[in-house]
Order: sequence, then structure tokens, then C-alpha cells
Amino acid sequence: MEHALPPLARLEAREQGAHLHPVDRALILLRLAERAMPETSATEALPLLPLAERDRRLLIHRRATFGDRMPCLAECPSCGATQEFELSAAEILTGLDEPRPEEILETDGWLVRVRALRSADLAAAAREKTPERAAAVLVAQAIAEARGPDGETSNRLPDHVWPLIEARVAEREAAAEISLGLACPACGAGWTAGFDIGAHFWTEVEADARRLLSEVAALAERFGWSEEALLTMPASRRRAYLELARVT
Ligand SMILES: [Zn+2]
Repeated sequence: MEHALPPLARLEAREQGAHLHPVDRALILLRLAERAMPETSATEALPLLPLAERDRRLLIHRRATFGDRMPCLAECPSCGATQEFELSAAEILTGLDEPRPEEILETDGWLVRVRALRSADLAAAAREKTPERAAAVLVAQAIAEARGPDGETSNRLPDHVWPLIEARVAEREAAAEISLGLACPACGAGWTAGFDIGAHFWTEVEADARRLLSEVAALAERFGWSEEALLTMPASRRRAYLELARVT
């Protein structure tokens, strides 16, 4: 079920997320887009959604808010040339895999149950001081349960088991990410880039909120209408009044 982020919610998102981490900004967009959805349970914890499901929903809400085409910029890692291109939200959605279910890895007598990473895990990793610590926190978060050769649960994996689990978690999460195959028109280099729908949607919402504020300010000053009246009118009518305000 898709829900556009209405103009007032875009202003709210910008205010609420201004000083927050990108992980929190993505959650704010999700919460504001879904707060009017009758099918969403009020108790559903968005920070606990697998990242693949978070991204799927963000793509759907992005498309409902700004349309299917997503303008993007990328810098060539070989020659530094910037290229502009467009992505289709619908095409990306079609290519998305289902979130990976939990799996049990068996190695050297250990049984380790691994689950998909969630926003809450990224937030926990973001609080770490070094990238190495942050990476270790993500692996630890992904381990739902570990049982040693004695059958007892343990929260400490032996040193020789850890790298195998770490590699498997990295592999699972890479498969859940949206990646793009890009080619540079200037030098011909090809590379793979990740596409972060949360950051992309946030940047667009922020720019749109700035534009909305200046439209509302201009029209309120000219015609004396309330912010609420201006934000709930269709964008096309707001633009039409803006034209009038400029020529008269
Ligand atoms: Zn290039």
C-alpha cells in the first residue's frame, strides 16, 4: 500500500530530522508516510523492520510522493566525471529480493542463528567510535542465537568461528542492498554503486520543504491565507496563485 508524504508531513520531516543521523531520517520518512495507513498496526516497530523491507517501503512512498523517475548523480571513481541519470522506482522495486529469512549456520560444532539487520542495529553501530567496532557490532546484532558444541547458548563465539559468521552476514546484507551497475560515458570505466533510497528521499524532501516554505511565505504575504490553507491546496493551484502574485 503506497502513501504519498503530503506537504505538511514534508515540512515536519525536515524539522524532525534536521540534526539526526541518516538512519533516523529514513525512519522519520517511513513513520510520517505510514501514520495515516489504516493497515499499519500502531504497534509495529519500524526500527525492527529488516533493512530490505524498510527500503522497499521507502521506494513505494517515494514514488507516491514525487513520481516514478528518480534523478541521480554519480561521480566516476576513475576520472572523476559527474554523470546524471534517472532511475525508475518501479524497476528497482521489481528487482528487489524478499528480505532473507533467518538461517542457521553450522561450523565446527557451533550452531549460529543469523537474522537480517534492522535500522536499530545500524543505530547501535553508529554510536561506535571506529569503523572496526561498528562492523563488529553489526555482526553481533545479526547473531540471534549461538550454541556451542556442548549445546549451551553462548554470547561469545570462539575466534575461529567469528570470521565465518562475519563473512556470511556481509554476504546476506550485500544481497539485500540496492546496487547499480554504472558506466562512465567520459572514460568508459564501469563500476557498481550502492543506491541509498533513504538518503535520496531525504534530500528530495528537504529541498521540497525549503521550496514549499518560500511559496507559502510569498502567498501568505500577498493574499493573507493561512499556512494550512496553502499547504492543503493542490500544488498546481498553489503555483497558479504564485504566478498571479508575481505578475499583479
Ligand atoms: Zn570516468
